[in-house]
Amino acid sequence: MTARRDLEAAGSLMEDLYREVILEHYRSPRNKGELDGPTCAADGANPLCGDQIHVDVQLQGDNIEDLRFSGQGCSISQASASMMTEQVSGHDRAHAQAAIDAFQQLMLTGEPGDFDLGDSEMLVGVAKFPARVKCASLAWKTLEQALDTRSADPVTTDERTTSDG
Ligand code: ZN
Repeated sequence: MTARRDLEAAGSLMEDLYREVILEHYRSPRNKGELDGPTCAADGANPLCGDQIHVDVQLQGDNIEDLRFSGQGCSISQASASMMTEQVSGHDRAHAQAAIDAFQQLMLTGEPGDFDLGDSEMLVGVAKFPARVKCASLAWKTLEQALDTRSADPVTTDERTTSDG
């Protein structure tokens, strides 16, 4: 009984910590804004929740010299965008892709892998809620699209709108 209560208390303490970090990114987003003449950019939307993200990337060779996001939506989508920019800014494209893959894995399994996602790992609780996974994944998918210079289609995390044949 006591042990169980302790576990529950520990669980909600962790949830409080996660919530605190997420809200902190939402209130004080990192790298928010736009770049003058970005090397590449992409737009993403999650119509289910009304989230929108625009990502500007400044590449120097293969290195992400600078990136900014702008947009609007729920706290999960905006906090995740802020966390995403912290993870990939100053790194090369391979690192960015590894971070994107690791984040998608985190959302899929609810378990952090070997790749250190920093604050982004605080979004692990979202994995239990498929609708919120779309919110959290939006910025990462939009970054992936921005770095994929072969395609210019807008991104959506609502797969129903992409299955138009
Ligand atoms: Zn959302």
